[in-house]
Amino acid sequence: MPRTAVIVGAGLGGSLLAHFLGQRGWHVRVFERRGDPRARGYVGGRSINLAISARGIHALERAGLADEVKTHGIRMPGRMLHSPTGATAFVPYSADPTRAIMSFSRSALNMMLIQAAASHANVELAFDHRCTEIDEARGEVTFERADGTRVAATADLIVGADGSYSAMRGHFEKRERFEYSQSYLAHGYKELSIPPVASGPHAPFAMDPKALHIWPRGGSMMIALPNPDGSFTCTLFWPFEAPAGSGEASFATVRDGKAALERFRREYPDAVPLMPDLVGEFDRNPVGSMVTVRCWPWALGGRFALLGDAAHAIVPFYGQGANASFEDCESLVDALERHPTDVATAIDEYQRDRKPNADAIADMALANFVEMRDKTAHLSFKLKKKLDHALNRWMPNAFVPLYDLVSFTTVPYAKARARARRQDRLVLDAAIALGALLVVAAAFVGDRLLRTPGATP
Ligand SMILES: Cc1cc2nc3c(=O)[nH]c(=O)nc-3n(C[C@H](O)[C@H](O)[C@H](O)COP(=O)(O)OP(=O)(O)OC[C@H]3O[C@@H](n4cnc5c(N)ncnc54)[C@H](O)[C@@H]3O)c2cc1C
Repeated sequence: MPRTAVIVGAGLGGSLLAHFLGQRGWHVRVFERRGDPRARGYVGGRSINLAISARGIHALERAGLADEVKTHGIRMPGRMLHSPTGATAFVPYSADPTRAIMSFSRSALNMMLIQAAASHANVELAFDHRCTEIDEARGEVTFERADGTRVAATADLIVGADGSYSAMRGHFEKRERFEYSQSYLAHGYKELSIPPVASGPHAPFAMDPKALHIWPRGGSMMIALPNPDGSFTCTLFWPFEAPAGSGEASFATVRDGKAALERFRREYPDAVPLMPDLVGEFDRNPVGSMVTVRCWPWALGGRFALLGDAAHAIVPFYGQGANASFEDCESLVDALERHPTDVATAIDEYQRDRKPNADAIADMALANFVEMRDKTAHLSFKLKKKLDHALNRWMPNAFVPLYDLVSFTTVPYAKARARARRQDRLVLDAAIALGALLVVAAAFVGDRLLRTPGATP
């Protein structure tokens, strides 16, 4: 008898998991709230493009999809920092120039994963099915179709991969002793765009496509990632509200496109000529919010499990949410392979493996917002990156900067963070010791000079 799974949500994590389980002979049913993107095109989603790095690529390699996926991605080996005067500076992500994060179209990536899942005869996909109820005792999930009719499904394994506002997690929340917290950022985001150009040094791109562009402005920032059609998707991160009289831009104070244009002319002057529809897009496009969700347990009733944003929504500033969801899929299928007849033990091992790592990347993503919007604007940031890269070149095995560990390795997030802290402490200790040594040496030389007959004090 094949093992059976129900997956709620055919987003990035849900469709990759369906493909993995399909490859392993499971009978899988995936239920997705939205319509079928293969028939209607991709509608909605949380961002137009996204950065995928080593962890995501590793999972896609295991799924046999990396080559296909890589043909759609654009390599970004560093950040391009734009100052308020329009001057730019390129800061590589790694000492190794072959290392790059990749910009992907979310819709193309999701579509590819859905097609991969659908290629298995043992995987069924049902769109326009919204999960509404979970009956833990019966091991059942209920879905409502667009016409209001309902369908119930059961399986050996039932996974909630239904995103940050997960219906499955909503059921978990009703359970006693379920730990749950959600914390919204005081900033929102709005997507804007830079269209392709007919001429110029990077045509069809209006700027260098081999970089993630950042306009750091202290309390806020804009970023831009390249798309295969030559356009860039810009994401503007502003506070929802700014303190009265602070003069800071916020979505509350800058209410329409005309006011935004004025603000952009002052704060993002080099971007303005590249954004011909800035006013219209600012007026049309919604402001999104960003939430960090932490919860525990992720597994319930011996068959229900949460995965991806449903278990651990994080803010997007390390570009790791989708990467972490893909790692969840790998961890879960590995645990299921270790325990082929015991789903309860497998999902317990999965949640214990992933929870500390999800917590670590949630913290690092929050910290990276400050780094991106503020620290990158300072000379000290560029010097620190130079020092990190020099140390990494000098001692490639002993010193690996945190950004490399997170984006270019599959070292678990919690271990990566602990290792980077240890390394930073060692560097600080070495700097203090070196400073002390220099002070002692200077004192010694001074003393010798004073004792030298005829030397002037
Ligand atoms: C602005 C922004 C930029 C980002 N940039 C990056 C980046 O550069 N790199 C990166 O790695 N991550 C990034 N992320 C995070 C990334 O988008 C998520 O972590 C990732 O999509 C999580 O995948 P998932 O499958 O868990 O959830 P999702 O991709 O959100 O999929 C959930 C699916 O469940 C469906 N669903 C929801 N409710 C129900 C229901 N009741 N019944 C049935 N189906 C349901 C949804 O329609 C959706 O298809 C970004 C996020 C944002 C907001």
